[in-house]
Amino acid sequence: MYDAIVIGAGPGGYVCAIKSAQLGLKVAVVEKEHAGGTCTNKGCIPTKALLSVSHLFHELKTKAKKFGINVENVSYDFSMIKKHMERSVMTSRKGVEYLLKKNKVDYIKGEAIVVSPNKVKVGDTLLEARNIVIATGSVPTVFHPFDDIPGIWTSDDFFKMEKLPESILIVGGGVVGVELATFLSIMGTDVHIVEIMDHILPAEDPDVAEVVRRSLNKLGVNVFESSRVVSIDKEERHMVTIDTPKERLDLVVEKVLLAVGRRPLIGDDVRALGVRGEKGILTDEYLRTDVENVYAIGDVRGKVMLAHAAFHEGIVAAKNMAGKEVKVDLSAVPSVIFSYPEVASVGLKEKNVNTDEVKISKFPILASGRANTMGEREGFVKVISDKKTGTVLGVNVVGPMATEMIMEGVVAVKKGLTAEEMASLIHPHPTLSETLLGAFEEAEGKAIHL
Ligand code: NAD
Repeated sequence: MYDAIVIGAGPGGYVCAIKSAQLGLKVAVVEKEHAGGTCTNKGCIPTKALLSVSHLFHELKTKAKKFGINVENVSYDFSMIKKHMERSVMTSRKGVEYLLKKNKVDYIKGEAIVVSPNKVKVGDTLLEARNIVIATGSVPTVFHPFDDIPGIWTSDDFFKMEKLPESILIVGGGVVGVELATFLSIMGTDVHIVEIMDHILPAEDPDVAEVVRRSLNKLGVNVFESSRVVSIDKEERHMVTIDTPKERLDLVVEKVLLAVGRRPLIGDDVRALGVRGEKGILTDEYLRTDVENVYAIGDVRGKVMLAHAAFHEGIVAAKNMAGKEVKVDLSAVPSVIFSYPEVASVGLKEKNVNTDEVKISKFPILASGRANTMGEREGFVKVISDKKTGTVLGVNVVGPMATEMIMEGVVAVKKGLTAEEMASLIHPHPTLSETLLGAFEEAEGKAIHL
């Protein structure tokens, strides 16, 4: 009898299993595909491996000469790029397997069928547990007419490609759409993005998205906002008709990638248990479902579908199974987008606040000494603070290494620190983090370097 069986070894599941074991529970994790789940195998890791390649390629093409480095005829070999991606995935996957073993978690490969709130079947083996954790993740959303068109890609298919397409239409200008458009356009593919909302990255502020859109345009990407696909044919090279605010356009593209979000993967066996929730399993703040001793964590809850949110939820569920009473807290989850330049944010956005009550303070990347040495100019840091108290309520960064810099914003927002407190911290010089300092200084008075 296990204390806990975790179903799914993605970011939520494997972290939950390891934390449970560290807290003294006897635990098994069951996985039907690969350790690490979507993030390691078909998401975060392969994308970032590819984007590291395109970033280097772009730097060589655009900066090398200016910086005095002679690199003639820069070119690439896609089979080697793919090897780098596969090696990155494999290292990450093996790393997760190693950690499970090191923490004495039973890693069971196979498809788990939940038979009752205490019983799970894997093949012919019946396992029993005091608790079950559903961490089955999510799958890309596919809808009509795309479900009927042979050869349409989702992000799952993208990483299997043997060669880069000459041209592609990406439906959805969200995180996946923008990250993959960045990679493909730098590597030479003719890229079009169709986004139904009035700007790409609709979860971000319009001025943030504008910096990324301008950069994509510069890379040669056609971005159609407030636009939608009207029809698509089944030919090998797809003829796609799109409606844009200006006109109806016909495009002929080699590939179509659907990147319009993900939906929670809730098996019939899990539904049969009696858990509730249409667009994700409903839980309380302790991550307990309506069924006693059954927890749900990560994308399958359909809330914040990010690996790092799943890590947190895995730890919360583990602690609760070990007898503590810990609430999930998603009040300061950073969002990171590996676009060019990068985007990262935490807390409130300008578009969602009442500007009578908050102060919006910006510091441009252009004014950073470190950015200057790197040959970077695009982007800004934006701080949203309470007009009365000065408390930092949100931080948005668009610029080089935004994804690494956002953690300072997370600390400020999560700990309720004021712009004055943040500005009083000595930031190392010359670093990009000084752009955050500049925005905090602006929020509490006036920036020195602006
Ligand atoms: P998303 O929700 O980020 O973006 C989907 C986009 O598709 C939105 O901009 C939406 O407006 C648009 N859209 C929806 N229907 C459309 C239609 N019919 N025509 C045109 N556009 C349409 O989803 P995603 O990019 O598919 O990513 C899936 C999940 O994975 C998200 O939760 C995302 O946050 C996560 N993810 C995170 C990262 C990261 O953290 N760096 C990277 C990739 C994916």
